[in-house]
Amino acid sequence: MASNLPAPYLIADHVGLEVVNTIGAPYGAELDWLVNGQELLSWMAAVGLLTAKEAARLAAALTADDLEKAADTLRALRTEMQENIPEASPEFMARLNDLLTTGRGHYEIETGAEGQRNMRFQPLLETADDLVVRVAVEIAELYCLNTPERMRECGSPTCTYWFHDNTRNNRRRWCSMAVCGNRAKVKAHRARQ
Ligand SMILES: [Zn+2]
Repeated sequence: MASNLPAPYLIADHVGLEVVNTIGAPYGAELDWLVNGQELLSWMAAVGLLTAKEAARLAAALTADDLEKAADTLRALRTEMQENIPEASPEFMARLNDLLTTGRGHYEIETGAEGQRNMRFQPLLETADDLVVRVAVEIAELYCLNTPERMRECGSPTCTYWFHDNTRNNRRRWCSMAVCGNRAKVKAHRARQ
């Protein structure tokens, strides 16, 4: 799936939370990884919501209008989500539930190499709405972790990136130590001199 953007800056540690990070300026100028339908497919493949094969199949099967509709819906959902992190309103949960009612798919039994069986839900991926649901499920799962105290914005005042802190002591401060963490360290060091 051809993308005209650099690889998305994936630091959220939860796909649902990566949605708010699809707009930002990790490399200088502000970029939007949901700017159009084609970029949406690339982003979904980058975060593991589509295989490369599925992305290619959908790019061929869906019209540009359909893909644009999905991207448009998800950009609107992202805007709502920005106002609903870390705590979400009942209205936002209702909005997610509305989207989830359009989900399609089936369960299947998967047998592993050692013969162990697992039930898996296989989402159907055919229409633009199926793409939207695929993303909405991840957002819903994020909120169902019930861990708003672990959702935080990067500690840098100029950084808009969010992450879910999976560290044991819940003290992660930066989107990335290499980027914002080091910048803050250098600044503190200069201030001390
Ligand atoms: Zn940052």
